[in-house]
Amino acid sequence: MNDRAAQRRWILVTGASRGIGRAAALALAQAGFNVAAHCRAQPERLAPLCAEIEAAGGSARMLAFDIADRAACAAGIEADIAAHGAYYGVVCNAGLNQDGVFAGMSGASWDKVVHANLDGFYNVLHPLLMPMVRLRKGGRIVVLSSVAGLIGNRGQVNYSAAKAGLIGAAKALALEMASRNITVNCVTPGLIETDMIEQAPREELLKAIPAGRVGQPQEVAALIAFLCSDTAAYITRQVISVNGGLI
Ligand code: NDP
Repeated sequence: MNDRAAQRRWILVTGASRGIGRAAALALAQAGFNVAAHCRAQPERLAPLCAEIEAAGGSARMLAFDIADRAACAAGIEADIAAHGAYYGVVCNAGLNQDGVFAGMSGASWDKVVHANLDGFYNVLHPLLMPMVRLRKGGRIVVLSSVAGLIGNRGQVNYSAAKAGLIGAAKALALEMASRNITVNCVTPGLIETDMIEQAPREELLKAIPAGRVGQPQEVAALIAFLCSDTAAYITRQVISVNGGLI
């Protein structure tokens, strides 16, 4: 690591292997942060991302664990902090959906979506919060919710519940952390061009988007990087949407 990279603050980005998380990791690196990039398994998949960050003069490292697995999250995050120190920020981005009408939804489908998206909030943030507080340097927490959490989406009762829960959790945590200069905000994307929307009925959904197109991961990443910047120090407990006018 060069001297400049060594002085930069570290931000953990969960789900950085692709989509919005990958774009956020690059935007944060461009904004001057070092990135602890996370994915579910096979951390070597993050190698090209980390190489890109390092080639641009930043520093990056890789972590892998299932955010639905509380013990694995605690072990992975605690070991990383023990080795490298506390994070300045975290982007809770990793998430998944498993769509289907509620009448036909299995308990397993409900559990899978709630465990990853909502329990993931506790599993990821709890092990890293007190080390972040003890740094006494303020901090940034950005949570990826969804417009589904604001208005509900047909065929996404499980996902809408989990994403709405994240908004309540983030707003409550923002109250607890404000005096520590740690901001907590939610970003609620609309329809963004990633693997997650591969199965979505795109043509039908486009009719509801005034901008007439899906969004790009970089358009969400720009907001995430801004919320992590020093400029955004007075923005906390907010929910900000990137959705082309969808709602
Ligand atoms: P992608 O499906 O493209 O990527 C999901 C990322 O999350 C991957 O890095 C994946 O890791 C990781 N991940 C998923 N489940 C787990 C898990 N159980 N444990 C660890 N990592 C996991 O998603 P997007 O980039 O589209 O979405 C990013 C966030 O934005 C999500 O929270 C999503 O709900 C939200 N969002 C997305 C929208 C969209 O239209 N795309 C709209 C609204 C919200 P791996 O590659 O290892 O599987």
